[in-house]
Order: sequence, then structure tokens, then C-alpha cells
Amino acid sequence: MSKYWSEFLNQLSPYVAGEQPQDRSYVKLNTNESPYPPSDAVLDAIRGRVSDRLRLYPDPEATTLRQGIADFYALKTENVFVGNGSDEVLGFAFQAFYKDKQAVAFPDITYSFYPVYCRLFDIDFQTFALTDTFEIDINTIPENPGGIIIANPNAPTGCYLDIKQIEALLQKHSNTVVLIDEAYIDFGGISCVPLIKTYPNLVVVQTLSKSRSLAGLRVGLALGDKQLIDGISRVKNSFNAYPLDTLAIAGATASFRDKVSFDRNREQIIAAREWTIKTLEPMGFHIVPSKANFIMIQHRTKLAKALYLELKEMGVLVRYFDAPRIDNYLRVSIGTLSEMQTLIKCLKKILG
Ligand SMILES: *Cc1c(COP(=O)(O)O)cnc(C)c1O
Repeated sequence: MSKYWSEFLNQLSPYVAGEQPQDRSYVKLNTNESPYPPSDAVLDAIRGRVSDRLRLYPDPEATTLRQGIADFYALKTENVFVGNGSDEVLGFAFQAFYKDKQAVAFPDITYSFYPVYCRLFDIDFQTFALTDTFEIDINTIPENPGGIIIANPNAPTGCYLDIKQIEALLQKHSNTVVLIDEAYIDFGGISCVPLIKTYPNLVVVQTLSKSRSLAGLRVGLALGDKQLIDGISRVKNSFNAYPLDTLAIAGATASFRDKVSFDRNREQIIAAREWTIKTLEPMGFHIVPSKANFIMIQHRTKLAKALYLELKEMGVLVRYFDAPRIDNYLRVSIGTLSEMQTLIKCLKKILG
């Protein structure tokens, strides 16, 4: 706080990201990053752009990247928006579609950036409760919301909503923009992107930070009907005409061409997730069903917060949320199989 701060600034409560401690090396299972490096093709493409041409501005429309993404999803370039991480893409989309509307609706437990953006952009919001098993029941979504935002799979639960349910939602709420945040869709779910051709009220947001091992490059995207994409671009061009730098455009374009390492990495993560679940269950853990690169777990007797602290002491970082309904759960990102074996070894030591 400072006497120079505005009343508005005093009232903001910014998003709190998972720890990125620099004091020692941890087995880092707390921010859903990929344990695998970006592919050589991506690194070569970035290196190839490290030259005196960095004195020039990048292509403000990032056309080569948007074309590559359009090809990947069998869409047109006009259906693709790219931004500086999907958090930024979400920020533009919120302003484009939800400002000065009725309250937007999202689940009571979901990505905590949504309410942060609503407060920053002065957007009204309402929440609807997940079921006791942390699932979304689309019948509990309020009538006539100003918009609907769903992370699918949801975070930090990992629960997945079937594409049929999403289609029902799009039909029922055809007058508002339904935003599906697919940050974790590549870990076993089926993307709802093909529905874009039928439903002009659907916008799908994705990121290269998780399944494409590029959290440090900051690239996110939105897919939707041309009119929605034009709307997001209008906000972008009112804020920063060049959100993606030359290196990010080159690396991201190469990533969408390299299907082999993309598929190999996500398959390895899915396999490590299933191994971890099978190993944790007989140790007294309840695991919420997950189609993400993380699992939400709860032990029969040992409190989550104590587990979190003891694991940290032993050099294993997981995420603990001091939030209603989930404050006795841990969210554990899926790393390599060997990292998951280390986690299990530490948990066995703690639990005796
Ligand atoms: C990680 C995450 C994002 C943000 O990803 P960036 O592209 O790194 O900004 C968006 N939505 C959800 C649900 C996430 O978990």
C-alpha cells in the first residue's frame, strides 16, 4: 500500500502463482509445467531467429503461426487469435465479451484467474457449485448469464466435461459467449474445437505452456468464429499491437509442426499419471478422476497442509490451496516417471 495508490488499486487482489523458489532444487510438481524439454525443432527455430533482425518489429498479426495452428485444427487463419500466454488471451476475451453484460458464470472451484480478471475489468460474476464429486452439472448453470466460462478439464480438480454436455450448453445459451479454457485438453480429453464451425458463440482458449513444454515462451491462443476472433483482436489492438515477439512466433510455429514429440510427451505424462494413481490408491489416498497433467489427492487421515509442508522439507513441491472445499487436498503435477517415484518414496516415508 502507498499513499500514491488509487482506491481501485487498493482493492485489487492479484492472482497468486505457484512458488518458483530459487533457493534449492526441488522435484517441482506444483505449477503443471511439462517435465520434458521443448523439442530440438522448436529450439532450432528460435535460435534461427536470434539475429540482427531482432531490431525489427514482429508481424503484428503473427500470420505464419496462425496459419500453422489453423492447419493443425483444420480451421481458417481467421479463426485463430494468438497472444502472450493464454492468461493474456483470456484477459482480452473477458474485455471483449463480458464487460457491461449480465454477470458471467463459472464454477465455484476453478482457475482462480477468472475472478481476478472480473475485478480488474469491472465485470460482474456469479458462481455455480461443482457437485460433491467436483463435477460440473450443466443444469446448475444460472439462467441467462452474461457469459459462461469453463476450464475443461477443470483446474485444480482435473475433472472433464464431455463434449456432448458442452454442445448442450452452447445450444441452451446461444445468446452468450461460452468460453472453454482447454489448457489441459491434450492429456486425454477430446477438444471441442470442431464445434466452432456450428456454434458462433463458442470460443476455445488453449496454451503452449503445458502440453507443449513452452511455459517460458508465453504463447496462448483462442479459436472461434471470425466475428469472435475479430472482437478479441480489437481489444488487443487497443492495448498492444505486438503481443508475440519474433522468437515466440518462430518457436510456437515449429511446435505445431512437430507432432511426433508432442504426442510422445503427452503419452508419457498420461502413462505416469495412471501409474501414480494406481500406486497412491492402496496408500490411503482418494484421487479425483483426472484428464489433466495433474491430480487432486486427499489422504484418509493425514491433513493436506501437513503433507505439503513435509514434502517441501524433503525437496518435493506440490500445490496446496487454502480455499473452501479443497483445503484438504493437494494438487500434484505429473512429472517424469522417476519424479513420481520420488514423490511416492517421500510419501511412504511421511506416512510410515
Ligand atoms: C496454466 C493455465 C492457463 C495459463 O496458461 P499460460 O498460457 O501460461 O498463461 C490458463 N488457464 C488454465 C486453466 C491454466 O491452468
